[in-house]
Amino acid sequence: QRLGWAVVGLGEFALGQVLPALREARKSRLVALVSGSPEKARRVAEQNGVSPKNIYTYRNFDSIRDNPGIDVVYLVLPNGLHAEYSVRASRAGKHVMSEKPMATSSAEARQMIDAARTAGKKLMIAYRAQFEPRHVEVARLTQARVLGQPRQMMGEFVQNMGDPKQWRLDRELAGGGSLPDIGLYPLNFSRFVMGAEPTEVMAQIFTSPSDPRFREVEDRVAFTLQFPDGVVGSFMSGYSSHRSARFRVMSERGWADLDPAFQYEGNRLRVGRRVGQQEGTDQREVENKSQFVLEIDELSSAILENREPKTPGEEGLRDHLIMEAIYQSAREHRPVQPLGLAAVAGRR
Ligand code: NAD
Repeated sequence: QRLGWAVVGLGEFALGQVLPALREARKSRLVALVSGSPEKARRVAEQNGVSPKNIYTYRNFDSIRDNPGIDVVYLVLPNGLHAEYSVRASRAGKHVMSEKPMATSSAEARQMIDAARTAGKKLMIAYRAQFEPRHVEVARLTQARVLGQPRQMMGEFVQNMGDPKQWRLDRELAGGGSLPDIGLYPLNFSRFVMGAEPTEVMAQIFTSPSDPRFREVEDRVAFTLQFPDGVVGSFMSGYSSHRSARFRVMSERGWADLDPAFQYEGNRLRVGRRVGQQEGTDQREVENKSQFVLEIDELSSAILENREPKTPGEEGLRDHLIMEAIYQSAREHRPVQPLGLAAVAGRR
């Protein structure tokens, strides 16, 4: 059985990654499109075998309620619109997949969770790294203590932003700068790897006052997360360096390294440890399954099996609470304990 998905927002990521993944999915298929551009919607519908009567606009979005063929709504909109469309989709009786970051604040994240709960529908956040096989292997190695006790983590995701007019540099549409957009990858992944929540956060932010790209949002962020048992993670995000994305876990008897990490394709995992008398490094080959297909089918499976999806709304809420602590720490130049993490319901 394949559930019917509606994709909202036909931008770069939707066209480049989401639609191809929906074509490959086993339990999900594309049945509807929501777009502000009738011309583009018609073309994309034709290419993907979507019936013209299943093309919606942002104005008539709420009438998806009357279309029983739509089970799930996938939000691939600028971050500042996730909360509004998620709440409207839940009220229309649909399950929701929201792109990351979930929203622009923990308050919006809570509204999304409440609306889905009231409607009795699922809400999942698209944390693709939690489905990417090499990234999953790093979490498995760490939690099974294959390399001993984990001690430290480091990670970064930086890229150089072009057009100063893009929505990612607009506070209202983006919610913040490099932190929620790409700093979120090492942040969320470190929590996934540890299977635990950080107890304390320290951060510094630098944004050049003369760079026209950063009038509204931050550029460079360095943040440290303290996890239980003394595990310390040091992470960076930035919007003014050439693209670089890596992640490393250092344990008592070895390390696991993703370089590059967080890519659509071509992620590479190496493990270093002592073998007998010698230091050895081996590249780990794992089954090359599409993280996008696995992620999309996870929500369809969770709906069909009536269980919580692996990365529910609460997972996004926790990241928003931690990002708010990161901003507060940078502002006040002091360590901050993320507030309310323990009170968030659900796994962990
Ligand atoms: P994009 O700008 O290419 O696409 C956004 C789409 O939203 C466009 O089609 C645009 O027309 C539409 N839109 C509707 N209302 C809008 C408004 N008021 N202002 C601006 N655009 C509006 O952006 P994108 O890169 O596709 O990102 C979309 C979402 O997907 C973001 O939340 C982003 O964080 C997420 N994303 C996730 C990944 C990932 O790897 N998981 C990668 C890229 C983007």
